[in-house]
Amino acid sequence: MSSYWSQRAQKAQPYVPGEQPRERTFIKLNTNENPYPPSPRVLEAMEGVAANLRLYPDPVSLELREAAARRYGLESSQVFPGNGSDEVLGFAFGAFFDPQKEAVLFPDITYSFYPVYCQLWDIPYKTIALEEDFTIQPGPYLERSGGIVISNPNAPTGILLPLDELKQIAQAALESQRVFIVDEAYMAFSQSPSALSLIRDFPNVLVVKTLSKEYSLAGLRSGLALGSRELIEGLERIKDSFNSYPMDRLAQALSIAALEDIPYYEGITQKIIATRERCAARLKTLGFSVLPSGANFLFASPPQGCPLRGGDFYAALRERGILVRHFEKNRINDFLRITIGTDDEMDEFLRAAEEVARSK
Ligand SMILES: *Cc1c(COP(=O)(O)O)cnc(C)c1O
Repeated sequence: MSSYWSQRAQKAQPYVPGEQPRERTFIKLNTNENPYPPSPRVLEAMEGVAANLRLYPDPVSLELREAAARRYGLESSQVFPGNGSDEVLGFAFGAFFDPQKEAVLFPDITYSFYPVYCQLWDIPYKTIALEEDFTIQPGPYLERSGGIVISNPNAPTGILLPLDELKQIAQAALESQRVFIVDEAYMAFSQSPSALSLIRDFPNVLVVKTLSKEYSLAGLRSGLALGSRELIEGLERIKDSFNSYPMDRLAQALSIAALEDIPYYEGITQKIIATRERCAARLKTLGFSVLPSGANFLFASPPQGCPLRGGDFYAALRERGILVRHFEKNRINDFLRITIGTDDEMDEFLRAAEEVARSK
């Protein structure tokens, strides 16, 4: 603690991202990055940008908004772009949730950035326990609240909540005039309908997407919020109180190129889904318990008889050069979150996992 820090800085409980190792080359399956390169069109777009970097970027990212609107069948006024969906979410918590209102609801096991934003903005929150099988049941989210945040598919479980249940929650939130944020970081890997179809009837639904996973641009920092014009304007009020040029020229141009290359991304998404299903089947054969995933990762716990559990299994994989993610958290500390890599990477992972599972 420093006496120079504001109360807000002192009380903050910052998010801790997954490890980005520098010292050795791991097969890196720990932060849900895409194993394939971005579209070749993204690389081409880069060349055009460099010469213009002396100029400030478009503060409202209009061309990017238009590209996202075309991609998702919306108006550009229904799109808010930001530096990664983490920033977009950070703004959204500030724009839509209040210190003096009821608690904001989200699951006890979900993206661990949500409580961080609540802490920062002084927003009361209440976590709702996932069911025994790690699914989300809509019931508790229909109660009156200060707002709702659900990652769909959920992270780190990978489990999808069907659209009708999201719609029930959206309806209840609409009746009490509260915002419902659906974080669709992994939606593309679920092959299920997005909550975007709710936006027309529900001015209180904000769908958040990231270009980090599906579009293989985690290093660029680009994310989107999609929703009614009034929600987008709320986000703009917060953004313009921080930084009026949030997205640089490179991020804008490369995001546009990515959003426009639908066939390329459908191709790599299908490959990741096929690899995921093959790995899930193999892990089950080895005796792992594997949750059904609609994401680019698997959430799995070691076979019953295996003496190495959770964190020890993680460490044994790490010694073998394979980095996955382990969360030291009640109910999930026996699980590993395994990002889907290329087929070759996953073969190495499966070999190592089998070896560790068999070691005594
Ligand atoms: C990865 C992730 C994000 C953040 O994505 P960025 O756009 O890279 O900031 C947001 N929500 C969930 C659930 C994620 O897993």
